[in-house]
Amino acid sequence: MLKLETPIDQIPRIQLTYRKKLQKLGIKTLKDLFYHIPSRYYDFSNIVPINKALLGEIVTVQGTILEIENTRTWKKRMVLTEAIVEDESGTIKAIWFNQPYLIRNIRKGTRVSLSGKVDFAYDNTFLSNPAYEVMGNKKELTHTAGLVAVYPETAGVSSRWFRYIIKAFFSLVAFKDFLPETIQTTYKLLPLPAAIKNVHFPRSSEDYENARNRLSFEELFLLQFFILRERLHLKKEPSIAIPTDIPLIKKFVTSLSFTLTNAQRLAIWEILRDMAKQEPMNRLLEGDVGSGKTIVATIAALHAKHARYQTAFMAPTEILAEQHFNELSKILAGEGVTIGLLTGSTGKISYQGSATKKQKRKDVLEGTANGEIDILIGTHALIQKKVTFKNVALVIVDEQHRFGVDQRARLSRPQTKKSVLPHLLSMTATPIPRTLALTIYGDLDISLLNEMPKGRKEIITRIVPPAKRKDTYQFIAKEIKAGRQIFIICPLIEESEKLEVTAAAKEYERLSHTIFQGYRLGLLHGRIKPKEKERIMRDFKEKNIDILVSTSVVEVGIDIPNATVMLIEGAERFGLSQLYQFRGRVGRGEYQSYCLLFTDSASRQTHARLKALVEAKNGFELAERDLKIRGPGEIYGTRQSGLPDIAMKSLGNLNLVKQTREAAGKLLEKDPELTSYPLLQEKLNQFKKTIHLE
Ligand code: ADP
Ligand code: MG
Repeated sequence: MLKLETPIDQIPRIQLTYRKKLQKLGIKTLKDLFYHIPSRYYDFSNIVPINKALLGEIVTVQGTILEIENTRTWKKRMVLTEAIVEDESGTIKAIWFNQPYLIRNIRKGTRVSLSGKVDFAYDNTFLSNPAYEVMGNKKELTHTAGLVAVYPETAGVSSRWFRYIIKAFFSLVAFKDFLPETIQTTYKLLPLPAAIKNVHFPRSSEDYENARNRLSFEELFLLQFFILRERLHLKKEPSIAIPTDIPLIKKFVTSLSFTLTNAQRLAIWEILRDMAKQEPMNRLLEGDVGSGKTIVATIAALHAKHARYQTAFMAPTEILAEQHFNELSKILAGEGVTIGLLTGSTGKISYQGSATKKQKRKDVLEGTANGEIDILIGTHALIQKKVTFKNVALVIVDEQHRFGVDQRARLSRPQTKKSVLPHLLSMTATPIPRTLALTIYGDLDISLLNEMPKGRKEIITRIVPPAKRKDTYQFIAKEIKAGRQIFIICPLIEESEKLEVTAAAKEYERLSHTIFQGYRLGLLHGRIKPKEKERIMRDFKEKNIDILVSTSVVEVGIDIPNATVMLIEGAERFGLSQLYQFRGRVGRGEYQSYCLLFTDSASRQTHARLKALVEAKNGFELAERDLKIRGPGEIYGTRQSGLPDIAMKSLGNLNLVKQTREAAGKLLEKDPELTSYPLLQEKLNQFKKTIHLE
């Protein structure tokens, strides 16, 4: 018997050329082969006598080959293989195109099964390019007469070959079912061998649905178990319990120039309650752009400072880090808080808000190590470089939704050197659909800012067809004359950043020399050095630029209250969530703002999708839609997650996600180390090695 883990390389029966091709498809072991799941099935189950093969239908006929020969079409471009098949009811012709080798496989006199469409030419019906199979005395057919698996497009490996090889090896492999029996019975799952068999060779649609369900279940179950167990381990790590100082918080909150929304109050309360515990907080603060996440995080940091602990505050870019530095310095002026900013090359420290002094990186590092700095703000450099904190109790991560379980530890451990783990608060404006929140992000508690501060003007969103381009430019010119500023986002070019940069540069040139001649334009893209980028953003912020032409790099949290128009070129190329994020860049000040979606696409689907953005009241709705339209992999960059396709697909299935979470939770309670389930334990260890969630 072969093991599922047997490498394809060690199976001489599979030809070398195929082994190489399989390698290309990422199929390295027998397991990978068996888990190469069909993308769909042909329905060849309509088996009929030849005289009942009706034009236009897909049928299976079974009979004997009377004649078979190759001919050439009159243009001599194509080889036709023509055969006559006979059963008790009659005869029919079958024609194959450009497969001359068939006459070696299907010989005169053999009994065959043929499945395909009945077509019509030269006064006769015939089977066009049917799938074929020599019947001999086979009981079960593989390629015809039933549901027949079709595999995802493959590097020169045909679906026929996959069916053949999978069937051949199926009986040679010892399948060991690692899912505990109780789980199988509770959730009515097929045993593993049956699931594998039925997913490749189903007899009914029920067969393959059950099979898929079982295979998705096991992958999601492993993921859930893994995540829940990590979470359990994490909770056992000591952290710093900071008792909640209610009067302090109240005093600070009343000193603010605005009233907090109820959602903000609740989030603050949830965060402080977590921080009062000995176990490390692991909370995600989720809220639309402009919902006021920064103030919530600031209060958490202030709270830590009063207990004499430090906070590390990470932003995804230097511009944002600086923005946070300025904002926190302002908000916390008069609170006796010292704030540091650490970027790639420079450092800054602000004491008491207003007295901002330019300083060296070295000073900031020193101030962080000796505890003089209460809040250190920076990019990821904060954890990657050798920054040591005296006593950090809180780590805040802004706009970084792509991190999961295994990064959790890395986020804070290097800098403490002590055995305590700081509390972690991450913030994102990218809404996470429920199924993902329960899986990939399953180790996080979530606080939701589902309410906007009062008095915000709604952003007017319009889909602009090509014919309206001129009018739109005129409108923009009017806005600029009124003193406002404009974002123009160039289309996303996924294949190449270089092309994207070129496109943006061209658009910048075009606009500067034609319609917006005489205005001040700026250009921003991914190839511009961080320092230069920052200079451009600062110019824009200080109103030295009227129109900022940019690629998607402008996406996250930049605050330009004077900008009122977000014009997006090639809007159909962006995901809804991303468009939503772009739109959030405007409408941050007192002026009426606009989001203009340019598209050349006339496709109805595109318009329906963009309309969703026009109508959407919140980002969560959009994220759910995105998930349905594009699939989780593309949105969350989990393509490289190592999660099998079948698991990725089932991330959209809330019911399955809930079931697997429940099953994993129960087992975790009973036997966290899986000592009574050695097979599952082994499986989980393998699983751990293959996944790397971002
Ligand atoms: P985001 O959630 O996008 O990070 P910010 O924290 O940057 O949002 O807040 C956007 C703006 O709203 C900031 O200028 C902030 O001072 C302001 N703000 C935050 N909370 C409130 C509130 N409750 N009422 C009015 N304005 C608020
Ligand atoms: Mg923000």
